[in-house]
Amino acid sequence: TATTSPLRCWAEIDLAAFERNLKRIQAALPARMRYVAVVKADAYGHGMPQIVRRLMQSGVDCFAVANVTEAADIRHMGAGWPILVLSPLLPQEDHFVVEYDLTATVSTLGECERLNALGQANGCRIKVHLKIDTGMGRLGIWHRDAPALLTQIQAMPALQLEGVYTHFSSADSDTQFTEVQRERFLRALQSERGLAESLLIHADNSAGIDTLSNDSPYNAVRIGLLQFGVPPYPKSALGRVAVEPIFSFHTRIGLIKDLPGGTDISYARTHQLKRDSRIAVLTAGYGDGVPLELSNRGSVLIHAQRCPILGRVTMDQTIVDVTDCPSAQIGDPVVLIGKDGAHEITTTEFSEQAQTIPWETLCSVTKRVTRVYV
Ligand code: PLP
Repeated sequence: TATTSPLRCWAEIDLAAFERNLKRIQAALPARMRYVAVVKADAYGHGMPQIVRRLMQSGVDCFAVANVTEAADIRHMGAGWPILVLSPLLPQEDHFVVEYDLTATVSTLGECERLNALGQANGCRIKVHLKIDTGMGRLGIWHRDAPALLTQIQAMPALQLEGVYTHFSSADSDTQFTEVQRERFLRALQSERGLAESLLIHADNSAGIDTLSNDSPYNAVRIGLLQFGVPPYPKSALGRVAVEPIFSFHTRIGLIKDLPGGTDISYARTHQLKRDSRIAVLTAGYGDGVPLELSNRGSVLIHAQRCPILGRVTMDQTIVDVTDCPSAQIGDPVVLIGKDGAHEITTTEFSEQAQTIPWETLCSVTKRVTRVYV
C-alpha cells in the first residue's frame, strides 16, 4: 500500500543521542538547578510524545509549552508532572488550567485577578509563575513594576506563586545586554528575601547557560534547542555542554535527466545551466520544509558528495546538479541535513544558507515528513 512504500522525505530522530544530550546537560548544570524542558511546537518538530517520554524517563523537573493544547497532550501522558504554559492564556482558556492541573504564566494584574477568581470559584489554588520583562519587550510585567505585582499576587488567596522568571532577548549575541537583563531581574526580586528557597527562579535558555554563573540565585533553566543537539549560536561555548545532533532530514532522487547548457531551470527561470548537465529532481520541496530561500543557494549530499540546488525550490520537488556525481540513480537517498560520509550539513549551516535560524528550520519541517525514530 501507499503507506508501506519507500519514504520520499523523512526525518530521522536519534533518541539514544537525545538521551545522551540530556545526561550531558544535566551533568553540566549546578546540582540545585531544576531542568525545565521546553517542548513547544511538537518538541521543536521532533515529535512531542517520543521526546516527552524520554524526558520523563530522564527525570526532568518540569515541562514548558506554548499553549493549553500542548499542555493537555503532555498531561495525558502522565499525572503529576509540572507543566508551565509560557504564552498568555486567552480568557476562554483559563478553565483548562484547573482541568489539566497546569501552571500559568502571568504578566499583568488583570490576568492574576482572572485566575484568582477562577481558583475561588473552583475551591482551589491556581499555580502561577510571574514573568518579568527585563528587556525582551514581549511578555512579563516591566521590571520596575514587578515588586508591586509580586506583593499583590501574594495577597491573592486562590493564587499559588510557584516561580518567577524572565527571558533574554540576546543571550546568543550580546552578553552585555544579557548582564543588563540579569541585573534588572535581580533588582526586581531584591525586596523578596528568601524567594529562591520556595520558588523556581529562572531565566536561562540554551544560550543563557553559557554565561550562567555558579553563585547565581537561579535554581532552574529552560532548555529547548540545546537538548536537540543544536548549538544556540554558531560559536556557542559548547565546551560546557558538548551535545550531538539528533535530527537529520532526508529525501530521494525521483528523476534524473540530461539537459543542454543554457536550459532554464524551475519557476521564474532564475537559473540557466552553464554547461551540458545532468540534473536530479528530488522528492521534497517547501511543502516538506525545504525553504524557498535555499533556491540557487543550498546544497544536498548524494553519495557523500555535495550537489548544488539549481533554480527555485518548488512545493514538492527540488532540482540539484548531479553532473559531477555520475553514480546518482533514481531512488537514491539524499541528505538535506545530516552526515553522509565525510560530509555534513548541520542544522546550523542549512539555516544560515536559508537565511533563517535553527529554531525556525526545525519547526518548519511539515506534517508530510515522516519522523523515523532510530
Ligand atoms: N524560554 C522561553 C520563554 C522561550 O520562548 C524559549 C524558546 O523559544 C525557551 C525558553 C527555550 O529557548 P532555547 O530553545 O533557545 O533553549
